[in-house]
Amino acid sequence: MVHVGIGYDVHQLVAGRKLVLGGVEIPHPKGLDGHSDADALMHAICDAILGALGEEDIGHFFPNTDPRWKGVPSRVFLAEASRQVLQRSGRIVNVDATVIAQAPKIYPHIAGMKKAIADALGLQERQIGIKATTNELMGFIGREEGIAAIAVASVDLPF
Ligand code: MG
Repeated sequence: MVHVGIGYDVHQLVAGRKLVLGGVEIPHPKGLDGHSDADALMHAICDAILGALGEEDIGHFFPNTDPRWKGVPSRVFLAEASRQVLQRSGRIVNVDATVIAQAPKIYPHIAGMKKAIADALGLQERQIGIKATTNELMGFIGREEGIAAIAVASVDLPF
């Protein structure tokens, strides 16, 4: 039976941080702020997979109050989501996500993101969809105060 999950994440853009999205470090004057590497795309995908399992969100498994997760690369969280799927004898069918960012341009990095996400989940790149849009200069994303990501995942489970 195929189960579907949805995930959403947003992080603030601040000076003095690296910008990491989809496991790719992108040259930019500002980076996403957070306890881990603040990779909003990987976090949204993680929540989508956990959601398909009917599980609690990423913050439950990796609380931002726990020093163990300070500065960790978010592929660790995806690997845990993947482990939870395998533990239930399931398999991820596909993941699809959209990054919402006014700047920088995301498109040149999409191939790298697909590879990093596929590697973290033990999937093929063709199972990962990544798109990007701006917010047409509106709101906090339009003002480049933050970057958001939304994702869905479908997971085939034996129940
Ligand atoms: Mg997050």
